[in-house]
Amino acid sequence: MIRPQKNMNAHQRSPAENTQSKSPLANKANHPLAPAHSRKTPLWIQHLLHWFSVHQRTMPWRDDPSPYKVWVSEIMLQQTRVTAVIPYFERFLGQFPTVQSLADAPLEKVLKAWEGLGYYSRARNLHQTAKIIHFERNGHFPKTEAEWLALPGVGPYTAAAVASIACGQTAAAIDGNVMRVWSRLRGIREDISTPAWRNKARADLIRYARICNASLFNQAMMELGALVCLPRNPACVDCPIRNNCIAHRKRWTDIIPLRKKINPVPHRHEVVLLISSNKKVLMRQRPEKGLLAGLWKFPSQPLDKTHTSSSRAARALANSLHIPQTNKLQKHQRVEHAFTHFTQTLHVYRMELATAIKLPSPDWRWCSAHDLDTLPLSRSQRIIANEYNAEDERSS
Ligand code: SF4
Repeated sequence: MIRPQKNMNAHQRSPAENTQSKSPLANKANHPLAPAHSRKTPLWIQHLLHWFSVHQRTMPWRDDPSPYKVWVSEIMLQQTRVTAVIPYFERFLGQFPTVQSLADAPLEKVLKAWEGLGYYSRARNLHQTAKIIHFERNGHFPKTEAEWLALPGVGPYTAAAVASIACGQTAAAIDGNVMRVWSRLRGIREDISTPAWRNKARADLIRYARICNASLFNQAMMELGALVCLPRNPACVDCPIRNNCIAHRKRWTDIIPLRKKINPVPHRHEVVLLISSNKKVLMRQRPEKGLLAGLWKFPSQPLDKTHTSSSRAARALANSLHIPQTNKLQKHQRVEHAFTHFTQTLHVYRMELATAIKLPSPDWRWCSAHDLDTLPLSRSQRIIANEYNAEDERSS
């Protein structure tokens, strides 16, 4: 059962309260403080907006929807659930309270603050965009959807969401939740993953966004998809727009939305060496471009068909680092990890060296336990580092 929210701010009141507003903003339909809707607004949208005013979840960026907060939250919410984002958002805003503080921070500090959220290109783009806003735009945030779209890491959905929620612009923000709600509401039995479907949906939704408060309309559609119109077993009995919903009426909720079959993701194996010497472990920083760019990792290499076993691949990797054969390798750990496009098993081998080897190039480093705690690592590398530090603590 969804409970009414207690702490609604000025622009999140019920439609009845909002239409009584005496604010001079009342005439600007899409200003964030404008009323939720007017007399021209279709009844189903009035029901939807009223439902949103009562049932919306509390989120730290909703109380003060400034461009900085909404932009950071939308970037974090790409590929990540709200509940996982909230603690990261609060820590991130504590560390970088303004766009200037984010622009001035070194990238490594931003990556460290992002650690565990995954999809690190989001953090790099956020940092790059903060620099553009602070240094090239004199701290002025973009206003329109098109201006937001021109910035690194901002796609059509994010541009529309930030422009409407934080800047009072008319835009249709179409994420996975909105696609599901809209296709069911209209009973559209077409593949929703095609650009043609999206373009048509955007053209239809923008007409509705124009005649009510676009910020609230977009947020209400997304919230309905997240809380009621679920992918499986939508809670149609609790839905404020069920009387208008074609999928509900025709019992099509199991077949809509239609989406073409997605190929299964490939699985890859990689060997990882945990090489320690004098209480330090060997690490390497990833290149500035590519997957997990700029993060640190343990020496590793993909396990492919040329390797007959993970132990042989680990030995070959040790040989490539000129580590003498006399040093023994021990099977240490297995870590499973999932990326969007593939899943991965890391076969971790451990090796203790009496004397540290010479570093192969400047991007390598012998790291202490403290370094391991402070360097930005991907989730799977963090699991290996934490296990190493815990063992180190137990043995000392
Ligand atoms: S009635 Fe059911 S299927 Fe239709 S929008 Fe509401 S929750 Fe989704």
